[in-house]
Amino acid sequence: MNADHEKCSECGLCKANCPVYRALLDESVSARGKAKLMKNKISSGMFFVCTLCRACKQLCPANLDLDFEGEREKLIADGKETDANKRMIGNIRKYGNPFGKEGEKPKELHCC
Ligand code: SF4
Ligand code: SF4
Repeated sequence: MNADHEKCSECGLCKANCPVYRALLDESVSARGKAKLMKNKISSGMFFVCTLCRACKQLCPANLDLDFEGEREKLIADGKETDANKRMIGNIRKYGNPFGKEGEKPKELHCC
């Protein structure tokens, strides 16, 4: 894990590019919100509320590369994986696809 979160000035410029923030208008899902959690060493399910698109990095004046994947790894190691992730991985192991029974199309498809 890198320590870029320690360099976050909390300017908030990244929020304009974050698709999750723009959809939910919730500060805690923004890169700034997540950086604050990381600075305070708070492990949170909020790290799963992220597309990992890195659009926040594009607008960050310090070009910070916040390690959201590392935070997810820690959550999973602590057994705090989401039910949706567990289901998806179980389906891949059992059926070879993330949706479920072999050959059965899902009724709905969602992106993230
Ligand atoms: S990686 Fe994408 S979704 Fe996650 S905080 Fe950055 S801009 Fe938002
Ligand atoms: S733009 Fe960069 S420095 Fe500013 S709040 Fe976002 S991550 Fe932190």
